[in-house]
Amino acid sequence: MKSLLIIFGLAGIPCFISAQTTIDEKFPIIDMHMHSFPVKYMGESNIPNPVTGRPSGAISDEELMLATRSEMRRHNIVKAVTSGPLDVVHRWKIEEPKRIIGGVHFDEVTSLPDVEQLRQRFMSGQLGVLGELVAQHAGLSLNDSLFEPYLCLAEELDIPVGVHTGLGPSGTPYTCCPRFRVSYGNPILLEEVLVRHPKLRLYMMHGGWPYLEETKAIMAVYSQVYADLAVINWIIPREEFHEYLRGLIRAGLGERLMYGSDQMVWPEAIGMAIEGIESATFLSEEQKRDIFYNNAARFLKLRENGE
Ligand SMILES: [Zn+2]
Repeated sequence: MKSLLIIFGLAGIPCFISAQTTIDEKFPIIDMHMHSFPVKYMGESNIPNPVTGRPSGAISDEELMLATRSEMRRHNIVKAVTSGPLDVVHRWKIEEPKRIIGGVHFDEVTSLPDVEQLRQRFMSGQLGVLGELVAQHAGLSLNDSLFEPYLCLAEELDIPVGVHTGLGPSGTPYTCCPRFRVSYGNPILLEEVLVRHPKLRLYMMHGGWPYLEETKAIMAVYSQVYADLAVINWIIPREEFHEYLRGLIRAGLGERLMYGSDQMVWPEAIGMAIEGIESATFLSEEQKRDIFYNNAARFLKLRENGE
């Protein structure tokens, strides 16, 4: 047994070095859509991944954070916009100060954060993105006056805003969110916000799927709007995702699409989401690099050194 270990150990040395080299040589990726949720975010722990049917195995908040951080390293995720309850985001940010960009997650419109407190958190760098804003689940669009003070703050401080668009889980109005409506996910409803706040750095989360025409229409007229491809790159049928992505690329939007995973309680979703884009054979290597890093770096206004 011992000798076996030695053999594997010796064989493991060059293997380890080359693995290290691969990690270093791997292109950096920015995840524009990640979550730091408590492990029981969906009511209980160990909910199966909707695609693989397997639970993540993390049964505590700490384990979920550690497993997510390890996936980030494995895939060279150098930055991740991470939203969730503010105290959990804060904890993750302390562990990964350089990689985590704190996000503000709204889905319960009954407990919106205090605007002045948010201002302090943005100014201190503890938070960097206003989002994910999930107005749709509350039966609202981003155009509702409820969001106005937050949008004004984001525009004033030049903070990027990520808004949930498009889809929701099957049966949503019958379960968690009786006021959820499909129609509130339509990106066309963002137009009044964009007119009122011309300096807002807004990105559509989930790329507006399945509203391809409306997404193209908004992005064509409002050239400041970007979109992430989170969740649609691993949950919906792959062929449908690729057709949708191809539609956006064909419309000339390839320089405003960004990688996102929407990792919720399944850390492996990070890799599954990467694979969704890697497997798009119609994308050139350059287009993939744009989606994985360059577009987000520009949108986030990162400096040359990536900070
Ligand atoms: Zn979402």
